[in-house]
Amino acid sequence: MAYDTNNIFARILKGEIPCSKVYEDAHVLAFNDIHPQAPTHILVIPKGAYVSMTDFAQKATAAEQAAFFAAVGKIVAEKGLDADGYRTIANAGANGGQEVPHFHIHILAGKRLGRMLPEAA
Ligand code: AMP
Repeated sequence: MAYDTNNIFARILKGEIPCSKVYEDAHVLAFNDIHPQAPTHILVIPKGAYVSMTDFAQKATAAEQAAFFAAVGKIVAEKGLDADGYRTIANAGANGGQEVPHFHIHILAGKRLGRMLPEAA
């Protein structure tokens, strides 16, 4: 899938739409999800134009990939999420239920999140 330069996260990166910023460095931006599914619900995105985890893994530089996962770790540490635990999710494509076609990882925490998928799924 070609990258849509007008997707909502691209517009946040361009400064066209505000976000509730949690973390930023040269390669990464993180902000609170606008419709939180848990007391803590943070989205971590690369600043580069990548559609999905696959696209990111195949095309991002080693520096971008290292910065991305380092940022996830920094945010978890900064927010003190290791003590009680947390979940990361990266949805991709139609079966993955991805709504925004700019690679992102959800960090969810602050309550018991239950099983990985709904029982009936
Ligand atoms: P996904 O289904 O993995 O693509 O998740 C997209 C996420 O982006 C959803 O959890 C939305 O609530 C969230 N979202 C959409 N628009 C915004 C926005 N403007 N600011 C923050 N989060 C957003």
